Amino acid sequence: MSFNETFDNLSNNINANLRRFIELLSSDNDEHLDNLVNESTKTTKQNFGNTMRLFAPLYLSNECINDCTYCGFSRSNPILRVTLSVDQVLAEAKHLHEQGFRSILLVAGEHPKFVSSGYLEECIGAIKNLFPSIALEIAPMNEDEYIKLVRAGCEALVVYQETYNKKVYKELHTLGPKKDFSWRIDCPERAYNAGFRRIGIGSLFGLSDWKKEALSLAAHLDYLKRKCWAASYTVSFPRIRPSAGGFTPSHSLNDRDFIKLVCAFRICFPDVGIVLSTRESEKFRDYLFSIGITMISAGSHTEPGGYTGKGKDDLHYTIKGRRVEIQDAVDIKPCGANSATQQFEINDNRSPKEICRMLQLKDLDPVWKDWDSSILSN
Ligand code: SF4
Repeated sequence: MSFNETFDNLSNNINANLRRFIELLSSDNDEHLDNLVNESTKTTKQNFGNTMRLFAPLYLSNECINDCTYCGFSRSNPILRVTLSVDQVLAEAKHLHEQGFRSILLVAGEHPKFVSSGYLEECIGAIKNLFPSIALEIAPMNEDEYIKLVRAGCEALVVYQETYNKKVYKELHTLGPKKDFSWRIDCPERAYNAGFRRIGIGSLFGLSDWKKEALSLAAHLDYLKRKCWAASYTVSFPRIRPSAGGFTPSHSLNDRDFIKLVCAFRICFPDVGIVLSTRESEKFRDYLFSIGITMISAGSHTEPGGYTGKGKDDLHYTIKGRRVEIQDAVDIKPCGANSATQQFEINDNRSPKEICRMLQLKDLDPVWKDWDSSILSN
């Protein structure tokens, strides 16, 4: 039985681990929070030592056929778009390699015409000698397509459900294949069957009640760890940031609750990687680094060509699926930029070097490379 089939009956499937997770989130007094932070810090040290893995997102394309109300890349947003050529992807990858990264996350909007599995295979082939660890955050695909991407040299797949609340999911995904909740929620299991070694899941916090969202995410993780046990897992709790379209979240997850969330996941899932992106502020990230986070991005750009300026030669608008050249877009208020529009604003602008210095001040060792496929072939 898949997670999707058990999910509607979640309240009858709360095991001891999930009961503990609920308990850890339930109290709000200062003493409880201090205890949570201490236990989470200790558990992280026991399982990960003093290490912090570093990765960088590389955006391939901001074309998208979906309308997700909260996302800057939504089809209806009149933004500057581009899909990088394979050579341009390689240039961006070389830049990140020079900065020290050996773990990369290829990100793309959902557009089968521009971001096909063939295009992704070519991108992976072009950069695989530079990056022992290549992860993908792309549109959900079927198992056969995933098998091809694993064979091409891809190690990990990241797919966030965004919200586990089916009603809210329906309201926020108004157009395109992403409307299909089940196709998305089944994605980690298809990825596992296809042979991905590492699978990342998460929720976008701010779309729905945070405690219910957290429990659903924990239940999904708990299920995957039991049923798809040979993979390793990461989990993430991105919060909404300003983006084109100007979405205003109807819910919030404040910093204090965010800390509780990190600690509860760490305590209930001691060996799971917890990922923190540059959506969070410098000060908050610096605090979280020590208490449960194990994988971070640094110096990120959330637009295609953001690291090197590549792709500017083919910038255009795509409005409701129709390509409009910049000079013909007389009715569109220009975004005031001469580069592709970013997915969201980042909140920690420090360079990878600065982040490493901060980690070392906290007695944490930055880890650029923690995986090589030769481990399996041996
Ligand atoms: S969240 Fe993903 S699928 Fe939705 S509009 Fe943004 S890029 Fe497209």
